[in-house]
Amino acid sequence: MTSGLTQEQSEIRALARDFVRGEIRPRAPEWDARRSLDPQIFSKLGELGFMGMRIPESYGGLGLDLLTYLLVLEELAWGDASVALGVAIHSGPVTFLLQRYGTEEQKGRYLPGLASGELLGAFALSEPEAGSDAQALSTAWRRDGPQRVLTGTKKWVTNGGLGGLVVLFAREADGGKISAFLLDPKIHGYQVGKREITMGLAASETVELHLDQLEMGDGALLGAEGEGFVYAMEAMEVGRLGIAAQAIGIARAAFEHARDYANERVQFGRPLADFQAIRFKLAEMANRITGARALTFSAAEAMEGRADPEAPSPGVMAAMAKLTASETAVWTTDEAVQIFGGYGYMRDYPVERLLRDAKGTEIYEGTSEIMRLVIAREAIGQTGA
Ligand SMILES: Cc1cc2nc3c(=O)[nH]c(=O)nc-3n(C[C@H](O)[C@H](O)[C@H](O)COP(=O)(O)OP(=O)(O)OC[C@H]3O[C@@H](n4cnc5c(N)ncnc54)[C@H](O)[C@@H]3O)c2cc1C
Repeated sequence: MTSGLTQEQSEIRALARDFVRGEIRPRAPEWDARRSLDPQIFSKLGELGFMGMRIPESYGGLGLDLLTYLLVLEELAWGDASVALGVAIHSGPVTFLLQRYGTEEQKGRYLPGLASGELLGAFALSEPEAGSDAQALSTAWRRDGPQRVLTGTKKWVTNGGLGGLVVLFAREADGGKISAFLLDPKIHGYQVGKREITMGLAASETVELHLDQLEMGDGALLGAEGEGFVYAMEAMEVGRLGIAAQAIGIARAAFEHARDYANERVQFGRPLADFQAIRFKLAEMANRITGARALTFSAAEAMEGRADPEAPSPGVMAAMAKLTASETAVWTTDEAVQIFGGYGYMRDYPVERLLRDAKGTEIYEGTSEIMRLVIAREAIGQTGA
């Protein structure tokens, strides 16, 4: 599926791969063990333009098309899934919404910093009682003169403790509609709460946010009041393609480790790769990864308006890509651990980390069950929960 890449797309991917091979991949085990990334990594990525891939050049970004962005994300995830998650949230939902709905003043204020990596974007939708059912969120604002005063708790916010710009969703008090807001984490009333100890993606910052009587001026409103839920759903469609690319990068890394190990490890006098049971596992990995990548690229084309008219809608294509790629990542990493045998179960080898990382892709930006609901609604009809 990559034969159709332009020269520019191939060159950008090669640049990303070189950087990841030198600066990210060798450090992934250390970052996982200490549960934090090198704080400089996002500014280094910013220097290469990789924090502003989708931001127009007029704001300091690279202005890349969606497919090129996904190619780079796959490389980042091949090196370290926590880095890829940070970039995917920053560049997917956050900069997408700011570009689409921000005023000129808001774009001028935030986009250059986001493009350079000086500001890291976070997306605060989920709450303790509102995950898949995000519309049930209870973080609320009320008017107090010229200000809106915000109170509530957000859960599992990636980059939320490092963020330079948080897109946050809250409803008007007493059951009003949901709106989107742009928050600077330095604002009074913004408190970073518990840092989660996650199963995988250990180096990624997943935090709780407490908003205590936080006062926002009108300049914080993103887009139209009351349209926030629609914006969140649009942002997630783009975000899901980023997670699909992340999942493919994780799966590819697991496949390559398993393939190399199967060629080296000798049992019963032969390399593991000679046994048909192992060959078929590796063949199935290659098959599923290539299929997931092809579907993700088709979904990206659909999202950019170049869809086959008989294909599902772009949003459903994105859900299919995310579902297929994330399940491919979990399956592939699990089989990679199996091929490594006892060594695969040990922290000394990379495949157990990849399995832990892969599991997250089936959960965030909409779980696999929610992806199936989205697909079913269009494929079967609107009925059903
Ligand atoms: C590492 C990580 C990073 C995250 N980062 C962010 C972030 O940056 N910003 C953010 O806002 N959120 C983030 N999240 C939250 C994530 O989006 C939610 O966890 C996810 O949407 C699921 O919500 P939940 O955990 O409340 O599960 P629930 O919604 O309680 O679901 C529990 C289970 O029930 C299933 N289920 C729920 N409803 C249905 C239904 N109608 N039909 C069938 N099955 C159903 C789910 O699929 C799941 O299996 C992150 C989560 C993780 C793990």
